[in-house]
Order: sequence, then C-alpha cells, then structure tokens
Amino acid sequence: MAVNFKEQESIVEDILSVYSERAKKNRKEHIGINDKETCGTCVAKSNVKSLPGVMTPRGCAYAGSKGVVWGPVKDVINISHGPIGCGHYSWGTRRNLAEGEPAVENFVPFQFTTDFKERDIVFGGDKKLEQAIKELHELFPTAKGIIIESECPIGLIGDDIESVAKRMGEEIGIPVIPVRCEGFRGVSQSLGHHIANDSIRDFVVGKGEIDDSKKTPYDVAVLGDYNIGGDVWSSMKIFKEMGLNVVAHWSGDGSIEEMKITHGVNYNLLHCYRSMNYIATHFEEKYGIPWIEYNFFGPTKIKESIRKIAKLFDENIQEKSEEVIKAYEPKMQAVIDKYRPRLEGKKVMLLVGGLRPRHIVGAYEDLGMKVVSTAYEFAHNDDYERTTKEVENGTIVADDMNEYEFVELANKLKPDLVASGIKEKYVFQKMGIPFRQMHSWDYSGPYHGYDGFEIFARDMDLAINSPSWKLVKPLWKK
Ligand code: SF4
Repeated sequence: MAVNFKEQESIVEDILSVYSERAKKNRKEHIGINDKETCGTCVAKSNVKSLPGVMTPRGCAYAGSKGVVWGPVKDVINISHGPIGCGHYSWGTRRNLAEGEPAVENFVPFQFTTDFKERDIVFGGDKKLEQAIKELHELFPTAKGIIIESECPIGLIGDDIESVAKRMGEEIGIPVIPVRCEGFRGVSQSLGHHIANDSIRDFVVGKGEIDDSKKTPYDVAVLGDYNIGGDVWSSMKIFKEMGLNVVAHWSGDGSIEEMKITHGVNYNLLHCYRSMNYIATHFEEKYGIPWIEYNFFGPTKIKESIRKIAKLFDENIQEKSEEVIKAYEPKMQAVIDKYRPRLEGKKVMLLVGGLRPRHIVGAYEDLGMKVVSTAYEFAHNDDYERTTKEVENGTIVADDMNEYEFVELANKLKPDLVASGIKEKYVFQKMGIPFRQMHSWDYSGPYHGYDGFEIFARDMDLAINSPSWKLVKPLWKK
C-alpha cells in the first residue's frame, strides 16, 4: 500500500500547532517521516539542547556515565560524588544484573555517595572525597577500583578530583578514576557515555597482562550489553554455542579486570552502538581490533547477526553457527505460531534511549506487529541513518520527543501498544493503552537472544491481550 506522506505530515503539523512560533520551528526539525529513498541522516535533527519547559524524557551525563556505562561494572565501587539525590534516585533502578558475592565481588547493589552539604560547596569537597576513598578501601578491600562519578556541583565549584584520584590511587594501590560526568555537560545521557568511555580508555584499557598461553583465534569481547534482566547471559549462550570465546563483556555483569585485557581479543562485537562506539573505535585505532555491530532482538535479526559474526571466522565457526540457527529454528517457530496470531497487525509506538528504537523493530515484525512511530531520547545523526533502514516508509521518527507530543501522537495514531519508559507508563495505561517498559523490560526479560525472544513475545501478548483493557470504561459510559 502506498504511503500517504501528506497524512503523516498533517498529523505532525497538528501536534506542533500548540507551540509558539519559535518552539514550533525548533521541534519541527526533530520530527520526520521516514522515507528510505530521500532520507539518510536528515529524518530528524538530533543531539542538541532540549527546549526548556516541554518535559523532555532525557536524563543527564551522570546518568549516562554512572547509570549506564560504569554502574554495571561489578568489581568496582562507583562513588556518586555530590549531593544525595542523583545517587539515590539511580540506586537499583536500572536492572543491570551481576553475579557475585555482594560487597566482596559485586558492588552493583549499593549506593556510595559523598552526600554533599552546604559546607562542602563553600569549602570544596576534595578532602571529603579523599576521606571517603580511604574509608571505602578499608571497608571493602576486595574492590578492584574506585570510580568518582561527578554530579553537577563538582565542576561548578572548582574541585580538583583528578589530583585526589591520582594521590589516592597511589596510596591505596588500585585504580581511582575521576569521571567528569556532571549533569550540566552536554545535552543528555549521551555525553556521559562518551566521557565514561574516555575515562576507561585513559585509565583501564591496556593495563592488564595478557596470558598468551590462553589466547585463541576465537577470542572476542562483547561491547554495549548491560545485562538488563539477564540479556548478557542469554547472548553469551549463543556465542558459546557458536564456538566463540568471550573474554570480556562490557559492561553488564562485567569487571574492570576483563576490561584491562580486552585489547587482547580478535574482534569486538558491539550491541549498543550509541554508548560504546567510542571505545570500539579506540580499540580499532590503537590495537587494530575490528568491530562490528550486531542485533540480538528477535530470530530474524539474531540469524542475520550470527551469520555476520561467523563470517569473520573460519569454517569451524561458520558450521557451528549454522547448527545453532538450525537448532533454535523449531523453538522460534513454535513461539511465532503461538503468539503471532494473537499479535498480528498490532501497531506499536516506541520511545526509548539510543539503541532500542531501531534495534527492537525486527522482533516486533517477527510477531507480525508494525512499528508506526519510533523516537529516541538522545540519538545522534548516525543512529538516524541506521534507523531509516530499519523502519518502513511513512513511520514517524522523532528525536527528544516530549511527553506532550508522545501523548498527542498516540491520540492520533491509536496504537495497540506503547513501548517506552517508567515516566510514560502510567500515563498511557490511564489512557487505556497497553504499555510495556522498554528500558527495564517491566521487571521481566531477558529479551536478547533466542531465550529472550520467547519472553518478549509472551510479555507483548500479556500486555496487549490482557482482559483489563476491556474494563477501562465503566459500563454506563460504553
Ligand atoms: S543533572 Fe546534575 S543534579 Fe541532576 S541527576 Fe544529573 S548530575 Fe545529578
């Protein structure tokens, strides 16, 4: 069926009509209609400041560094350096699971903070930070590193965390890493990813001893999988079955010790391009390690990715990979046979962070569902370039879509499912629209890999076909 671009444009126009002329001009550049022929990066302007007062769904650089990149590394202590709020609100809210004895091998479940008071703003917090590092090292001697995650005030009051880190690192004999991820830097979580990647590059990469006797031709590292609900574990299963030797996974259930020896691998496999393309590029430039992107959402993309990865290796891996695909095919077909008839033709609207708005599209399509709009919080041009290939012509693609625009778009597109974050969830549920959280997997998952697809399909069915939606309107209003 031909796409009616005019109709889509008029929907967008209509939504923007409430804004002032200036705001309208700004937001119009961020909302596009996908057209594979003409649109590369141009579909939506990205990675610029949010408009004040429009309820952006974005977070800050601290969230990108501490929350996303560094937070899941289990053998280090992340200190939220500054007042209490940032550390507290981000405590345990991202489901980056990690194995290991808490407080001995695994520090992910805890919140460490310097809990700034007014006097720390007035006199500076360097002394307090030094004291905190000493205490933490005494209390948790098995931690393999201490990461200083700067909150907003640190950069504003002129503290010198770099010199504290250097001094304390020498004193306690483990890496103490300063990260300048204050929330006022950049425009979203995205710069926090970049800053965190650079801190890993400067303080971690290449620092480990590689045991040559343990090296194999199949050594790889997985970058940009944060193990949400066990995503890393369900992916590792596939890599193992393919015959690959995963030396490190960044950073879900990962460790600084693995990061230190990642420069010994033959390939880097990148799931989240947005948050870790910087470090992947560094490995390529400095150590000559090539990297490729892959997608483990839904059987179609998994199959494509397995073949793409297998091509990098010899026949042994290629044969094993075909066996993996073959072995899982009946299971995947059974999942599709069960759920597709219940989900066929259902319309989905997405708003997530920097990867999933395009990466998860294939999994929905495997179930016969159609993504009618997709939006990122903090993607860049190169993400939109990739997105345009993944979604159909006519799909509304938006950047930094705010809560008003999202609700209005739902009123117009009448989706059967909205897939987004916790801030959006209850709004749409009250509107009577089925909702799934696409950051936390709604406390379910994993969604990656073959095992993950089965759970994904079940969860989408549970949300959409729940009998509760028939009870949203009282009988006397029907
Ligand atoms: S913007 Fe500043 S105060 Fe807010 S969460 Fe980020 S670091 Fe903390």
